[in-house]
Amino acid sequence: MNAEHVLKQQVALVTGASSGIGQATAEAMAQAGAAVVVNYHSQAEPAQALVAKIQDAGGRALAVRADVGDEDAVGRLFDEAVKAFGRVDILVANSGVQRDAPIGEMTLSQWNEVINTNLTGQFLCARAAVRQFRAQGRAPGSGRALGKIIHMSSVHQVIPWAGHANYAASKGGVDLFMRTLAQEVAAEGIRVNAIAPGAIATAINQDATEDEASRQKLLKMIPYGRVGDVKDVAHAAVWLASDAADYVVGTTLFVDGGMSLYPEFRFGG
Ligand code: NAD
Repeated sequence: MNAEHVLKQQVALVTGASSGIGQATAEAMAQAGAAVVVNYHSQAEPAQALVAKIQDAGGRALAVRADVGDEDAVGRLFDEAVKAFGRVDILVANSGVQRDAPIGEMTLSQWNEVINTNLTGQFLCARAAVRQFRAQGRAPGSGRALGKIIHMSSVHQVIPWAGHANYAASKGGVDLFMRTLAQEVAAEGIRVNAIAPGAIATAINQDATEDEASRQKLLKMIPYGRVGDVKDVAHAAVWLASDAADYVVGTTLFVDGGMSLYPEFRFGG
């Protein structure tokens, strides 16, 4: 696979792309030749900086502010994307938040915020993408599929996580939403898949990856012996969006260094 060309002539929209996994994924999509819509929620500066970086490297990119949990804002996000680049071929629904609390102390607003961004946001963006794929139809150069959707899930779609019930519920929801959507639209040529990252060093888990004692504790849960890098996920996203993955439909690709392999069983069951 020639990473420089696999997404040439395609348009990718990445949500939550002003930081972490989304930022790296947007950049990797651009390196693979796609024009990229860099969605951000509140941080305009890093989003604009990423756009400038992509443009300086000869690529095409646009930053668009939108709250993925807001129906009208998602509509405007897709309108801006189509206005700028004519179509959307790839959606990476990446935005996500954590608002952690033990269950007895979890507020309704913590619950609602996580479900609204991590699950409703994925629904609103995926629905807008499906509508756009149907409206625009196929175009030369935009790949074998009519369109591709990649949901950013988490290992916590399968691993229960005490103290994070809202987050685990949102990602468990993403799993069955993704597979249902994949089943529903596959016949139209729309490929829907997910990526489940393990522990990737970003702002969302800074406490667990930067403090040495917490890092060592975390490493015990990762058979491969290292914390993940945002590029580990970005490369997987480019592959999933490319024609090399054309027969991959309704699957979650775990990018987790083996975190979901019940690591404690290494020492005997
Ligand atoms: P991050 O905090 O850097 O990225 C999250 C992004 O989502 C941010 O850019 C933020 O601005 C954006 N966002 C938040 N609310 C939004 C909203 N309402 N509308 C639009 N954008 C919004 O953290 P990250 O680790 O890069 O997380 C990216 C995704 O990966 C999330 O869905 C997260 O659950 C998932 N994930 C991360 C890890 C990890 O270890 N880092 C592991 C598993 C899953």
